[in-house]
Amino acid sequence: MKLAMIGSGYVGLVSGACFADFGHQVVCVDKDDKKISDLNRNIMPIYEPGLADLVKRNVDAERLSFSTDLAASIKDCDAIFIAVGTPSRRGDGHADLSYVYAASEEIADSIGKRTVVITKSTVPVGTGDEVQHIIEKKQPRDRFAVVSNPEFLREGAAIRDFKRPDRIVIGTEDAWAKEVMTEIYRPLFLNESPILFTGRRTAELTKYAANAFLATKITFINEIADLCEKVGADVQEVARGIGLDNRIGSKFLHAGPGYGGSCFPKDTLALIKTAQDNDSPIRIVEAVVQVNDQRKRAMGRKVIHALDGDVRDKRVALLGLTFKPNTDDMRDAPSIAIAQTLIDAGAIVSAYDPEGMESAKELMPDVAMTDSSYTAATDADAVVIVTEWDAFRALDLEKLAQVMNGNILVDLRNIYNPAEVAQSSLVYSSVGRLR
Ligand code: NAD
Repeated sequence: MKLAMIGSGYVGLVSGACFADFGHQVVCVDKDDKKISDLNRNIMPIYEPGLADLVKRNVDAERLSFSTDLAASIKDCDAIFIAVGTPSRRGDGHADLSYVYAASEEIADSIGKRTVVITKSTVPVGTGDEVQHIIEKKQPRDRFAVVSNPEFLREGAAIRDFKRPDRIVIGTEDAWAKEVMTEIYRPLFLNESPILFTGRRTAELTKYAANAFLATKITFINEIADLCEKVGADVQEVARGIGLDNRIGSKFLHAGPGYGGSCFPKDTLALIKTAQDNDSPIRIVEAVVQVNDQRKRAMGRKVIHALDGDVRDKRVALLGLTFKPNTDDMRDAPSIAIAQTLIDAGAIVSAYDPEGMESAKELMPDVAMTDSSYTAATDADAVVIVTEWDAFRALDLEKLAQVMNGNILVDLRNIYNPAEVAQSSLVYSSVGRLR
């Protein structure tokens, strides 16, 4: 099938390359000239494990191409995916749909044959209706169908998630669109990934419900971690104790510095707004957002506490800046609030991240970026593990202690065993655990 992917970011590029790998003919479109010219030279605009090889293989096989020309790209496509950003609208937290609607206008101008238009972007309930309305103004109603197909991939494991999804959700009431979508996802269907056909509005809401639920799970265990610290319990054992219950499940029960990233923060806010607008507030998610916002700065204060409550002119090294490992994505990363809290309290902050420093530089200009964990830690009074990159899991703790000025190791991801760190000369604190 001939497919176009409008928007070649984390979702569009990965999805487009994976669809090409299934054997479809795919053009990934973006309005960012640099992104497209880089992609045409096999330079990846993002860091995602395995992506460069996947893209190259499919470009070489002439199944995948890149373009800035939306009109020409979509003309003879069987299906057009919209995978543009839907960030929070400044001021009110609603999803900003201006990119989705702008892309829809352009699609409306250029559809050349009967086509399915699919929103892969995360969009509030009713957006599909509006996309349909926009296209209807310029195209006959029987020329197109608008489908919701939210994406559930995780950055850092995006290719695997796309190729082996827990489920595929397809929202449409149109029989022909259902057939086209089944054909597009046929390779996954053969892999026995469940395809869930729903109404369009149901599919749109399913994505927000999933992210809000996951954000709630993380926030729940984070608050349990705080309680563990107060009462002398261990959150990892509590998490295991509850996670073995199949009704609860063990995933997303890792206490840490609070969720961040390109999805949970904006999607929880957008769901809250939709719910309020429809006079059906979701108070649990409102509390989750509030607790999580406070948590990021609280983690900065935790570091200050570990340094006896005063960090003026003290040096703190942050290991890991991205919101999670194996991505370069810095959107809403907890490291931003943690660094700011420390700087506001007078600390001198250095950092190292394997992939995130390029974008982090702009977001935290007062943080000194370094080229390794040990360089960041040199002369530091405290080292803080903020993101659980593999590269930080087996640090030489004695070497770390030697280059440091002080001896404080704050592990916000619980990747070290307190008993092991106790054998070094470092003083260790982590999240929700006994020392
Ligand atoms: P992104 O910012 O990385 O990429 C969006 C791209 O769309 C940009 O490159 C931008 O230049 C391009 N674009 C915007 N308007 C365009 C237009 N009219 N024509 C062509 N290109 C245009 O965003 P992302 O992280 O890939 O997210 C895209 C959507 O997928 C969002 O709705 C997001 O919520 C959702 N989503 C993201 C993830 C994730 O992990 N990043 C996971 C699931 C769902």
